Amino acid sequence: MNGFGPLKAIFFDMDGVIYDSMGNHAIGWSKAFAHLGWDFPCEKVYLNEGRTGSSTINLLYQEKLDRNATDMEIAAIYGKKTEIFDSMEKPKPLPGIAALMTRAKQEGIEIWVVTGSGQELLLDDLCSDFPGLIVKGKIISGKDVTHCKPHPEPYLTALERSKFKAGEVLVIENAPLGIQAAKAAGIYTIAINTGILADEILWQAGADVVVKEVAQVEDLIFPA
Ligand code: MG
Repeated sequence: MNGFGPLKAIFFDMDGVIYDSMGNHAIGWSKAFAHLGWDFPCEKVYLNEGRTGSSTINLLYQEKLDRNATDMEIAAIYGKKTEIFDSMEKPKPLPGIAALMTRAKQEGIEIWVVTGSGQELLLDDLCSDFPGLIVKGKIISGKDVTHCKPHPEPYLTALERSKFKAGEVLVIENAPLGIQAAKAAGIYTIAINTGILADEILWQAGADVVVKEVAQVEDLIFPA
């Protein structure tokens, strides 16, 4: 396989790639919207993963009320979702992800995180959970961009800040909108299907390759 030149950096998505956190997000969103009497099933959470909180809330408001949510409505629902998310057991890192980052670092490859998330609990813990691997200056979060995934802005922002060209990096994603964003930024994209969606949905989003677990990613990037 190829499609990226000498590899200078890996851009990691966070939820469903670094942390096994999507189950908690799905519960958080479903319960938060249930307060309004609105159904937001699990599969829909996974299909829309990668959006910022406000984008997810506006999606539902447009569907239900044909308008965007007000700032107050967004704050109320996102606050509720965050409260539910934070009350659950903290998501664990995905098996093998620290080993992959360690290998990348050994090979002189930079580690960046590109996430739509604004969940402070996880963002704050990235550096302490992955000491010496993830540093604050190499995290692009939902607060750093105007347009969230599937718009390419998050990944274009990572290219701009890292000063690498699209052909020098690769993206590891798990969600269709994240894959679309990375491909729209012109970056080779490995999808790990850690969630409940069919592989076909990740291929259709434009993934260059779809695998089941992190160990397979390591084999692809660093063939024996
Ligand atoms: Mg993700």
